[in-house]
Amino acid sequence: MQPQVIPTKISCKVAVIGAGAAGLVAARELRREGHQVVVFERSTRIGGTWVYDSATDSDPLSVNPSRTIVHTSLYDSLRTNLPREAMGFRDYPFVAKHGKQRDHRRFPCHKEVLFYLEDFVNEFKLSELIRFETEVIHVGLLKEEEEEKGNWVVRSRRKNRNVEDDEIEVYNAVVVCNGHYTVPRVAEFPGSDVWPGEQIHSHNYRVPDPFSKKVVVIIGGSHSAYDISREIARLAIEVHVASRSDTNKAPTKLRGFNNLWLHSMVTSAHQDGNVVFEDGSSVHADVILHCTGYMYDFPFLKTSQIVNVDDNRVGPLYKHIFPPQLAPSLSFIGLPWKVVPFPLYELQSKWMARVLSGQISLPSQQNMISDVQALYSRFEAAGVPKRYTHNVWDYQFEYYDWLAAQCGVPLSEEWRNQMYEATGVNKVIRPEIYRDEWEDQNLISEAHKDFLQYML
Ligand code: FAD
Repeated sequence: MQPQVIPTKISCKVAVIGAGAAGLVAARELRREGHQVVVFERSTRIGGTWVYDSATDSDPLSVNPSRTIVHTSLYDSLRTNLPREAMGFRDYPFVAKHGKQRDHRRFPCHKEVLFYLEDFVNEFKLSELIRFETEVIHVGLLKEEEEEKGNWVVRSRRKNRNVEDDEIEVYNAVVVCNGHYTVPRVAEFPGSDVWPGEQIHSHNYRVPDPFSKKVVVIIGGSHSAYDISREIARLAIEVHVASRSDTNKAPTKLRGFNNLWLHSMVTSAHQDGNVVFEDGSSVHADVILHCTGYMYDFPFLKTSQIVNVDDNRVGPLYKHIFPPQLAPSLSFIGLPWKVVPFPLYELQSKWMARVLSGQISLPSQQNMISDVQALYSRFEAAGVPKRYTHNVWDYQFEYYDWLAAQCGVPLSEEWRNQMYEATGVNKVIRPEIYRDEWEDQNLISEAHKDFLQYML
């Protein structure tokens, strides 16, 4: 039998863009793999989404290109929509910690998640890798004729400094972790431009008070619409939630509320203040709140059209991470949605770091392209719009396990998969209290048994 040849590890100089959950775990995995890492973070602290800010964009609908932009989309009352056991990184459990400011609940408030990420940074001594208040302005391939072909030029700017002070550096690889919950997607319907009321995107929603005594139409069917509609209903005259997934022929009142109505989609809005729904009903509303999701945006990335965002599909990307033509020197961590994010980012990062070090090989460029094309063809055949490309909900555990198998690490824990499913079911059974009452105590016990290996 031939002895197994273990390839020598290649150490790369890597720029990671963003110090949110994705950038932090990417930095840890890259360093573990022997790479030299610099994390660029434009704000003053780590945490990205989880750094609550009571300030909002200067344009409430966030469509004005010259608006001032606030990164986070958190609302003040937000508690996680995943139980902490399932939500945490695989090898750094998100367990309740002692401390006056800590939130011990299973579905904690947003501050607790930020504490957890800060603990993660301290535990793995990641601060020393991060350049705070430093925004990446430009990432581009070095030109062919230049010596260091294949490398990336990264131009960054310190806060309050001028263009002349920009730092220009060359990196062997760039990992994009800039988050995708900051640039809103806004619903389009006839009359939205003449409708006289106030229009806001949930990116700029913080507290319910401004909606007191108002009639509010909320567009959207996901987590934010779910939480915000219930919160606003306590103060508003009426709340009308319009969702594509609601196919009822007439509006239905939500159980437990006497002023919260569920509708099919908005079909038009009018100068007289009326908003009309597909179910034939209409309301005279004061506010339309768009809880309609977000757009991927990489304003700094210049790849000569090799990577594009088309109807919110970032592509072409092999396994949502590597553009075949630029792999492995360019990668994206954290693009998939409808997932359990932190452990997913951890597995994506492990794979990316090991591919970069040469410990794991990628298929040929042609085979990666064929894989991506096969995915796109499946979408097209099923009539799924491009913007759902990175929604991996129905195969997320398969995807985790594929990444884990590539890295030779244990597959997604069975308790985590079951807990995710159980939480979804519990939310249907106990829509108002799923964060405080549950029946999967056995899975919590299993999770804690599993955590022991990381906590001793
Ligand atoms: P982010 O956290 O957005 O971090 C990106 C970082 O990149 C930021 O710090 C930003 O400042 C920095 N950056 C961006 N551009 C540049 C640049 N050019 N130069 C330098 N730095 C840059 N997930 C859960 O697991 N559980 C939940 O309950 C949950 N609830 C959520 C509720 C809401 C309202 C939202 C919006 C998201 C929620 N999520 C939840 C998803 C959450 O966003 C992810 O879990 C995760 O935090 C995303 O991490 P990220 O690193 O990809 O992006």
